[in-house]
Amino acid sequence: MKNKGAPDFGSAAWVEKLIREYWATSPQNRLKNGSDEKAWDEPLVGFARASHPLFRQFAKDLSPFYWTPEQAFQLAFPESPEKAEDLCIISWVLPQTATTRADQSQEKELPAERWARSRDFGERFNCALRLHISAALTTAGYPAVAPERLPEFGIQSSGRFGIASNWSERHTAHIAGLGTFGLSDGLITPRGKAVRFGSVVARIDLPGTPHAYDNHQAWCLWYAKGTCGACVQRCPVNAISEAGHDKDKCFNYIQKVTAPYAQKTFGTEATPCGLCQVRIPCEERIPG
Ligand code: SF4
Ligand code: SF4
Repeated sequence: MKNKGAPDFGSAAWVEKLIREYWATSPQNRLKNGSDEKAWDEPLVGFARASHPLFRQFAKDLSPFYWTPEQAFQLAFPESPEKAEDLCIISWVLPQTATTRADQSQEKELPAERWARSRDFGERFNCALRLHISAALTTAGYPAVAPERLPEFGIQSSGRFGIASNWSERHTAHIAGLGTFGLSDGLITPRGKAVRFGSVVARIDLPGTPHAYDNHQAWCLWYAKGTCGACVQRCPVNAISEAGHDKDKCFNYIQKVTAPYAQKTFGTEATPCGLCQVRIPCEERIPG
């Protein structure tokens, strides 16, 4: 018998509960800094139908290597391919905590320790969350895959759009109603831009989250009103300008400076920087 108040099995509320419970109870959701501090604040969750035209638009723009949801699904389930109409994408936002953002706000050239830890241990939790949700859905009869966890996942130079991966968590979150892009390329969500994203593709019937925006840059003050530009000032290597985000400059600074610094100073792996994600009007909310 169904518990009173428990969401219906297979519903959007049920999926959201799976994500929130794992966030609340997983011991992996920690900064591992000698305290019991969680790596992330409570997640936001959105949904997209795989038939949404933007999935095909992105795959066309980044042809031939960007996956549609059905291509990612087929890599995991080659014996039972599905049409886009039968698949949904579950996307989530993991917000940085207020303490991590406050620490990072003090920094001008190199990432704060908490930020480096969330980029390493927090992202490991995010990977575990991707695998947990895809396994929980599959076990419950809704076959699911986390594209970012597939062995074929990778990044490469796309030519027109610079370095790109074959599945973008940010672009997926945008289609799932979770935010719009800012001048620095980050996705501004209702919990701001100091966040990370994850997603799974599943054979499940869920309604797409309505978009509270009418274009892909609607929540950035620069694009909406011609004001702000605060993220430009936050980048120590001028990788953000009126022309947008210079991915190569950003990539080089992270690879050559911030990642080795974090490894040597804090013993963390991964590639932290994110100075442009704090001390800005869209750090923790939709600005303006
Ligand atoms: S800091 Fe300002 S210009 Fe930069 S992304 Fe946020 S709202 Fe847009
Ligand atoms: S993440 Fe990239 S764009 Fe942002 S501050 Fe660091 S180097 Fe600059």
